[in-house]
This record gives sequence, C-alpha cells and structure tokens, in this order.
Amino acid sequence: MQLIHALDPLRSAIDALRADGAIALVPTMGALHDGHLTLVREAKAKAAHVVVSIFVNPLQFGANEDLDAYPRQLERDCALLEAEGVAVVWAPKVETMYPAGFATNISVSGVSEGLDGAARPGHFDGVATVVCKLFNQVLPDVALFGEKDWQQLAVIRRMARDLDLTRPHADAILGVPTVREADGLAMSSRNAYLTREQRAAAVALPTAMRAAIAEIEGGVPVGDALSALARALLAGGFLSVDYAELCDAADLSVLPARSDKPMRLLVAARIGKARLIDNMAVAP
Ligand code: AMP
Repeated sequence: MQLIHALDPLRSAIDALRADGAIALVPTMGALHDGHLTLVREAKAKAAHVVVSIFVNPLQFGANEDLDAYPRQLERDCALLEAEGVAVVWAPKVETMYPAGFATNISVSGVSEGLDGAARPGHFDGVATVVCKLFNQVLPDVALFGEKDWQQLAVIRRMARDLDLTRPHADAILGVPTVREADGLAMSSRNAYLTREQRAAAVALPTAMRAAIAEIEGGVPVGDALSALARALLAGGFLSVDYAELCDAADLSVLPARSDKPMRLLVAARIGKARLIDNMAVAP
C-alpha cells in the first residue's frame, strides 16, 4: 500500500493502477470505523484497485464547528486500510488541495439547500468542491459513499450529473447502507466526542426514529410523529434537535404528509459536544 501526500506521485500511482484494472475511490476524513471499512470492502468487490482518500476538508466546516477537534489518526487508519488490501491512501496536505490563490466553489442548488444545508451554511459547497477535486485527482471508475450522509450522497450525484462527469459517471456513484453499532446507533467518527453516559443516551436517536417511522407508516399525522420524536430526544438527554423531517428520498423536498414515492426520515440532533445525524427509509 502506498501512502501519498503530493499530486505528482499520486498521478504516477494512478496511471500504474489504471493500466492494470479499474479503480474505486472511497473519500473519507479519516478516524476510520467499521462503516468506512464496509465502504472499502464494497469498493474491493467493484474494482481491481481501491484508493482511499483521507482529508479533513476545512471548506466543509463552519467557523464555529469542530475542524480543530476532529479526530486525526493517520497511522492507525493506514494500518486498517493496509489490512483491507487498499492500494493507495491519498492524504493531501491542506496547501496541496487549496494552494494560494484557490478561488473556485462548486455550489449545487436545490438538493443542498434544506436540512444540513440550512443548518450548516456553506457545508455542501465545501463537500461538492472537494469531492469534485478528488474525482479529478483519482479519476475513479466508481466512487462509494455512505447512506449515513444521505443528503451528501444526493448532492454529489446531482453534481456529477450536472457537470457530465465521466470518472466517475453519476451512475457509478454508489451508496452503501449505514453501518450501526449493536444498539442501533449509526457509526460515526464524531461518536468519539461522547462521554460514556452520552454514548448510552445516544441510542435514543435510532430508537425514536424507528418509533416515528412506525407511527407514520401506521397513519399517525407526520407532524405529530415528528413532534413526538423531538420530545423523545430531548427527554432522552439530547440538548437540541436541528431538524427532524420526512423528505422525498430523491430530491429531499420536505413532505408534510406521506407520499407514495420513496421517503426518508432525516434527523440532526446535539448531545454533549457531538452533533449526530441519521436517516432511515420510510415505506409508502
Ligand atoms: P466521513 O469520514 O465521515 O466523511 O465519511 C466518509 C464516508 O464514509 C462517507 O461516504 C460517509 O457517508 C461514510 N460513512 C460514515 N459513517 C458511515 C456508516 N456508519 N455507515 C456507512 N457509511 C458511513
């Protein structure tokens, strides 16, 4: 496995891999857990070579967010990825990704405007910009993203379609179902911010979401089910709820009532120092 920090050696490594088979890219911010490793295993099943990027992208963090506190553990991450048979870890420095004079921004309207886009202004511009750069740097045949970040996946697919990307093509951007801890909490690098008590309380998030989904699917008015969900989170130790919405699964428009199209329940809520997000399917 090669650990690469600069663009020239990356290009040479990518050229050599490409001559030998297809490339799958798994973009990450590091502090890897089993969710990330599941993406890597799926990537191995899709292509001869897997490239994992590890880059804590300053552009996607707001001024008062956790950029400095975000866990960084490159050595441990590389050991995990080597054991998975990854070919290249692409870990650029911030100055390599954004050299002096960098002035371009990719902004995807519509799908990036509500939910996390409203709660974290500029976040999805930062995501779209860095992912477009990663695509151009690695030129993967396929790229894999977690459904854990459902809105992010929708934003990246929209960008790839709108910009007529070919490596990867929008259809080769694959979503992988959320990997969860035994108690149902979605795995996240940010779970490391939780104390033992907060971690135990955080299970209220998937539990309350499943309860709300059962209510909505059973015919309870959407507004009532979502209010009960928020109350359950606050009673269960969460400090605040950024949003809890039933949305169209594809375009993420907020649904005031059930629809006959695929739906998704998306929630962001704060507990301790962590802001946790989760989403689940809702049957029509
Ligand atoms: P991150 O390092 O948090 O930016 O995540 C890198 C990739 O891993 C993104 O595509 C995430 O959606 C995905 N991911 C993060 N957590 C999980 C999880 N629990 N299950 C599946 N994929 C995940």
